[in-house]
Amino acid sequence: MSGLADGVLREAVIDTGALSANVAALRRMLSTDVMAVVKADAYGHGAVRSAAAAVAGGAARLGVTDVAEALQLRRAGIDAPILAWLHAPGTVFDEAAAHGIELGISSMDQLQAAAAAASPDRPVAVHLKYETGLGRNGIAPADAAAVTAEAARLERIGRLRVVGIFSHLSNASHDDDRTALARFLQAVDAAAAMGLTARVRHIAATAAAIDLPETRLDCVRLGIGVYGLSPFADRSSADLGLRPVMTLRAAVAAVRRVPAGQGVSYGYTYRTDRETTLALVPIGYADGVPRQASNAGPVVIGGRRFHVAGRVAMDQFIVDVGDAPVAVGDEAVLFGDPARGAPGAEEWAAAASTINYEIVSRIGPRVPRRTVTS
Ligand SMILES: *Cc1c(COP(=O)(O)O)cnc(C)c1O
Repeated sequence: MSGLADGVLREAVIDTGALSANVAALRRMLSTDVMAVVKADAYGHGAVRSAAAAVAGGAARLGVTDVAEALQLRRAGIDAPILAWLHAPGTVFDEAAAHGIELGISSMDQLQAAAAAASPDRPVAVHLKYETGLGRNGIAPADAAAVTAEAARLERIGRLRVVGIFSHLSNASHDDDRTALARFLQAVDAAAAMGLTARVRHIAATAAAIDLPETRLDCVRLGIGVYGLSPFADRSSADLGLRPVMTLRAAVAAVRRVPAGQGVSYGYTYRTDRETTLALVPIGYADGVPRQASNAGPVVIGGRRFHVAGRVAMDQFIVDVGDAPVAVGDEAVLFGDPARGAPGAEEWAAAASTINYEIVSRIGPRVPRRTVTS
């Protein structure tokens, strides 16, 4: 990866080659079909480029949260199967159906709305989602028999095609996940007894797919792993054979030599304890750099590791680089691939009391994404 181009303050470099390689590696490791989850602008990586790279790496399907995200991909020419699973009350699915978007169904209302979008020659593809303990959406156990029977009826009369059956796990513990899996397999059996057999069964996201082989079933819905990040506190990307896809970096915009006792940034929560050099890094909390990571978040400049000095502001923060020969225009890497010397997104997550998922997915629209292919 070369340095920042002239005139670029900050950017997220997205290595689509790494993304494709991650999908291929996970597919090999898990021996089942992969649905690459590209919701929330692909966890901040850019939905269209990430979807295309995932398909190139062997993803059989794509998953998003809502229909608008699915339509964005279709309009960009992505023709893989796309599942959307969270819908506003009263959503009309005509446009989704016209674009062949598959709908996750969590209630009788959604089932009827999906069927209403069918045309005489084209049933609407759905995946029935059963609640198995997470307490979010999914068909409630009390409604399961009625909704499943109605889905089977709508399939028989050609309005729906029940492509899949799915649920979602809590990752609270392996025992909790096994209990949810058992409930799920009962729902699958009940659906089969009503005539809905041999569907794509999927329940695992990245963590369960890796750690609980019995959850792999016909397909796994992988998000964080596709982006090369680990869902586990005790295992790194490299431990899992994955490469982080996003590198977040900025060009040092100002350098100032200051005496001991200089206050730094709002509130002077940091003061220099010696004569030193302050470097201004032009990316801030409006761009998704957590203010919570003030005085903590790591930054690598010129191969040396520093951290944020003082508060992260909206557009910038300061790094105390001591006597290091840092110059205006130098590359400051906030996070990327630790195997190449960058801090990990996990270090920013620790500094901000959150998880790597939130660090990457909150990188804002003012940060241009630049695609590279390694
Ligand atoms: C976000 C999401 C996933 C992907 O989870 P990861 O932990 O990122 O792999 C899978 N399924 C559903 C329903 C999700 O909302």
